[in-house]
Amino acid sequence: MRVRFAPSPTGALHIGGVRTALFNYLLARKHGGTFILRIEDTDQSRFVPGAEEYIINALKWLDIMPVEGPGIGGDYGPYRQSERKTLYKEHVDHLLKNGQAYIAFDTPEELATKRETSVNFQYGPATRAEMRNSLTLGEAETQTLIDVGTPYVVRMKIPDNRNIIVDDIIRGKVSISSNELDDKVLMKADGMPTYHLANIVDDHLMKITHVIRGEEWLPSAGHHVLLYDFFGWTDTMPRFAHLPLILKPDGNGKLSKRDGAKFGFPVFPLSWNAENAADSFHGFDEFGFLPQAVNNFLALLGWNPGTEQEIFSLEELTALFSLEKINKAGARFNFDKAKWFNQQYIMAMDNAGLSKLVRPIIEKNVKSPDEDFLQKFCGLMKERVTLLTDFWTNGNYFFQDIELYDTEKIKKSWKPENRPRFEKMLEKVAEIEHFTSEAVESCVKTYLLEENLKPGEILPIWRLALCGSMQGPAVFDMAALLGKNETLKRWDAGMAYFDTILQNA
Ligand code: GLU
Repeated sequence: MRVRFAPSPTGALHIGGVRTALFNYLLARKHGGTFILRIEDTDQSRFVPGAEEYIINALKWLDIMPVEGPGIGGDYGPYRQSERKTLYKEHVDHLLKNGQAYIAFDTPEELATKRETSVNFQYGPATRAEMRNSLTLGEAETQTLIDVGTPYVVRMKIPDNRNIIVDDIIRGKVSISSNELDDKVLMKADGMPTYHLANIVDDHLMKITHVIRGEEWLPSAGHHVLLYDFFGWTDTMPRFAHLPLILKPDGNGKLSKRDGAKFGFPVFPLSWNAENAADSFHGFDEFGFLPQAVNNFLALLGWNPGTEQEIFSLEELTALFSLEKINKAGARFNFDKAKWFNQQYIMAMDNAGLSKLVRPIIEKNVKSPDEDFLQKFCGLMKERVTLLTDFWTNGNYFFQDIELYDTEKIKKSWKPENRPRFEKMLEKVAEIEHFTSEAVESCVKTYLLEENLKPGEILPIWRLALCGSMQGPAVFDMAALLGKNETLKRWDAGMAYFDTILQNA
């Protein structure tokens, strides 16, 4: 089995493309096959510098790297179509010689006029006789026009009344009448092949066995099947699997690049910085996603193993994956679900591993936090976050003074007349030698009993003093991590502040 992911480097790789890559990767790995990256860069006008690098970085981040491709190597290169021009020329000449393709001189203006004047104009079997091409002009005139440098394209000559069968693994047999197909351009005036020609030639020469790609390519598959036939390659034609669309959260239409900005979620794996802000996007990485969670989430967009299980490692996905279990219907993009996956993966990580990912996020704000502290912090916070970025958003008070107190809660919970009892409690707390969570808890609980205080009178104040709100990890765990000095300092600062809140109320 040989499969390929064949993106065009036209910008950041959309999450739909990432899913295509993932499914190719899974299938190849499952069957001990080869996963190939081919860069389809024949459309010079849409080429975006940096896009190829972005694609490779995204595959690296997700740990779904191909084993053949540009910059990777392999026996079937080059793997960039722009470096394979002579191959396409040879193949187009072959079709011209066989009368399966022809030369067309119609200018863009002539074609535009034609489209304006005849409704639903399609350059094909029914209309090609009205156009300026080698079929209508004859050999001699065609040659003269070429010799004087007239720009031309090469078109595929679609046969009349042929029933073309696209046998799709996901959709079954799709039958198309050749009369519906147009004489697609195979080679453009600049001598570059179009997607259709280059794609078929390369899939053949690279010995691709399965073409797994987005549903948007299904309408082209009729042309592709015909091209295999023209070249006499039907016996080795790859099997097709067209993946269902990824839909907008409301199910109305395909998820587009712009939807990320519109709905406030990422639709790209990594961030993309374009010259203008409107084309720059934050990726799943910058939102604080783990690549494993992204893979897991994407795998279930359009595929499921038919069980209730939802969390799968890449190994498990590899073992279970099959094209036959892919749905035909589009899959809705559900950002809450993506976050849920991320949460599951964060919770399952060990503190040392997590601290490696959390460190750069914390270090954007504070310099070199202590590793042991950071790991304990990760341990306390990991069940309380969804995104890696939440470690800072929800837990920054572990690294700096409290930024914001919940004044409403303070007004409800702070009774200045209790201050002497708290101070007495803090004297006891100050005496604790091994400042562990258990030690602080037992000290405070003993004090509660002695003083006949209810937990509700004292514990909310602990929390407000230590982190400023009613959120956060268990209060004595927080105290232990902050340490004795910091805990006592926060109590002092807190009580002073709480008084001012009441005075100003
Ligand atoms: N270059 C096409 C794309 O950008 C590839 C489609 C295919 O896999 O055949 O999606």
